[in-house]
Amino acid sequence: MQNRHFDVAVIGGGIVGTAVVRELSRYTLRSVLIEKEAEVGWGTTKANSGIVHAGFHDKPGTNKAKYCVPGNALYPALCQELDVNFRQNGIFMVARTDEEAELLHTYLEQGRENGVPGIRLVNAEEAVALEPNLTKDTKAALDAPSGGVVAPFELATALMENAEDNGAELLTETRVEDIAWDGTSFTIQTNRGSVTASHIINAAGLFADRIAAMVDDTSFSIVPRKGEEYLMDKAMGDIVERTIFPVPTGWTKGVLVIPTVDGNLMIGPTGETIERRDDMATTAEGFAQVYQNVKTLVEGIDPSKVIAPFAGIRAASDRGDFVIEPSSVCPAMIHAAGMESPGLTAAPAIALDVVRMLQDQVALTKKPDFRPRRRPVVRFHQLSREEQAGLIEQDARYGRIVCRCETVTEAEVIDAVKRGGRTIDGIKFRVRAGAGRCQGGFCMPLVMKILSRELGIPMQEVSKRGGETYQLKAAAKQFLTVEEAVQ
Ligand SMILES: Cc1cc2nc3c(=O)[nH]c(=O)nc-3n(C[C@H](O)[C@H](O)[C@H](O)COP(=O)(O)OP(=O)(O)OC[C@H]3O[C@@H](n4cnc5c(N)ncnc54)[C@H](O)[C@@H]3O)c2cc1C
Repeated sequence: MQNRHFDVAVIGGGIVGTAVVRELSRYTLRSVLIEKEAEVGWGTTKANSGIVHAGFHDKPGTNKAKYCVPGNALYPALCQELDVNFRQNGIFMVARTDEEAELLHTYLEQGRENGVPGIRLVNAEEAVALEPNLTKDTKAALDAPSGGVVAPFELATALMENAEDNGAELLTETRVEDIAWDGTSFTIQTNRGSVTASHIINAAGLFADRIAAMVDDTSFSIVPRKGEEYLMDKAMGDIVERTIFPVPTGWTKGVLVIPTVDGNLMIGPTGETIERRDDMATTAEGFAQVYQNVKTLVEGIDPSKVIAPFAGIRAASDRGDFVIEPSSVCPAMIHAAGMESPGLTAAPAIALDVVRMLQDQVALTKKPDFRPRRRPVVRFHQLSREEQAGLIEQDARYGRIVCRCETVTEAEVIDAVKRGGRTIDGIKFRVRAGAGRCQGGFCMPLVMKILSRELGIPMQEVSKRGGETYQLKAAAKQFLTVEEAVQ
């Protein structure tokens, strides 16, 4: 990669960076996305609630309000173009006391001012008729039908795949370590050598302040805030249709009940300001807090149905808002930072605005042959028996089930590798092999075997999430230790 020059380098392959690089790929530019992890989408983008917010939570006049509603409006067409699962299931903010019911009016007004379509108040009777598992305490609800749910990692990988199809480049396992600006061009120093770029888009999530500081811009800093989430078995998946929010009591949106786009139920998140930017631990206290809260919203949530706890870290800025602007020190670097919630929702609208900011600095020409659509994805478990039989007839690998919990076939895993999957987690997040009830207990060795074969690497070099997260070497080491103990 040494000495290569790009017109634009995007630093960070989360939902924001991938949305930006895909927008950039509409133009005749040499663009590159630089990501420190083995695949895109592994920062906060893979560990959040997956809600496409309606936009009534954000104070008018903030950047959050500015980008959330337009971002939400872009989702249906974007997900259709890229063949990504998206469901506009709607959002209910539920009041459990008379005081909370009064507060719903504030959010209704805020939502209307922000331009949230179809937002309205519903009384307790209608709320419970629409969502029969709401608790008896329900007094009223705010109904926002434009809210939705999406698989954030799938969207980030789809955006990147489409950007690459349109000529953008991707550098993974490439950590930006330093940046120098000579007045016309940046030299970006990484762990794998350096590249130069005329412009940088800083979409480095939790580390965006450090990227800014590399050009002496200290105009914002990141204040990490952890959120623990609990994914539940699909048996709980239809307990509610809409995503259920409480009326917020502090500075977070509160603990939610989320029917995920894949058919699971998710409860969370907590909100805790933390010191370390890599503290992904989940805790008994976190779970207790989540469960105590959701119990007061929805009846019948069974705590024994949790299949995967995880935590994500919000990259909040010390301004309390998104930072979407050219750097005041070095305007050729444009920040897309401070991306706490609703950053996932806002990302498509932010990408458009970042490109507009770039156009203020340099003339951009649209490519006549930009291809907006991604090659369609086969989701075997969503097909009818006849369609499944037809596929198996064409390709026997559709007849071999790799992941039994989620009914994922060998052909789908191979396709995920062809689309850029390089690791066990990369396959799990792309096609859900290992995302079900047994969490990979059955399919992990099969996925490893396919990765090894398709990538032409020994099994020992198949990693869970890049770097040295090898599964077989770890196992071999444990075995040796036991052997030594026996001797
Ligand atoms: C618990 C939780 C729940 C949330 N729920 C929602 C929700 O329901 N809806 C919603 O709209 N938003 C939600 N959010 C917010 C949303 O997840 C974020 O706004 C969004 O994912 C941020 O994306 P990003 O691309 O800015 O950051 P990231 O996804 O973190 O991407 C940044 C990337 O930069 C890379 N990087 C960092 N430093 C370097 C470097 N030096 N060199 C190279 N690469 C680097 C990282 O590896 C990472 O991949 C939630 C957040 C949390 C934590």
